[in-house]
Amino acid sequence: MNLILLGAPGAGKGTQSALLCERLSLKHLSTGDILREEIGKKSPVGLQVAQLVSSGKLVPDALVLEIVAAKIQEEKDGLLFDGFPRTIEQAEGLDDLLEKQGKKIDAVVFIDLAEGEVIRRLTSRRTCKKCGKIYNLISTPPANPEACDVCGGQLFWRDDDSLETVKRRLMVYRDQTEPLVAYYKANHRFIKVDGALAPERVTGEICAALGDCVGK
Ligand code: AMP
Repeated sequence: MNLILLGAPGAGKGTQSALLCERLSLKHLSTGDILREEIGKKSPVGLQVAQLVSSGKLVPDALVLEIVAAKIQEEKDGLLFDGFPRTIEQAEGLDDLLEKQGKKIDAVVFIDLAEGEVIRRLTSRRTCKKCGKIYNLISTPPANPEACDVCGGQLFWRDDDSLETVKRRLMVYRDQTEPLVAYYKANHRFIKVDGALAPERVTGEICAALGDCVGK
């Protein structure tokens, strides 16, 4: 099964990805994580995109599609796409890439969350450098604000989670990514969930709607 998680930055895509990948045995494909890794390595791709990512702008479609094409090719099992596609061009590109390999998107999950809550969540988000676990200092705080409860790794504040950049990312989302809701509603299995619910409830609702992982 191939799934897409759609939603504004901060809607809970990263958190749901971890929960769903485990329950559905899917491989997580986050273009944001891949780009941050390239930036961390200072690779040619990383150097090319660093400024765009830190300012909350989108990386060019052709580059993102190239990265995703390579990942799809090496993956035999189902994928969970997180933070991709973000434009209609990327969505069409993904359909083409999958079709060439006799694969398809089985469902699109849209996590719906009001903008005020998105801003509140993103500006208090912390992520573990080592295992990627995501915390919120208000709703799901770690025992120690500096270290991950699970692996002890250092927690960091993403530089694109500053208030100014969050507002830019939301504007980019409204202009370029939100049109994907209509795109996928029209021609794919589309599931909408309330992102304001507790993470486990959101996962439960998604699994119930998918119908094939309940009880696992
Ligand atoms: P995310 O971790 O998904 O919030 O992504 C962080 C940043 O990486 C975004 O604000 C963009 O600058 C870049 N990015 C991630 N995924 C994409 C994508 N599919 N298309 C273009 N830029 C992306």
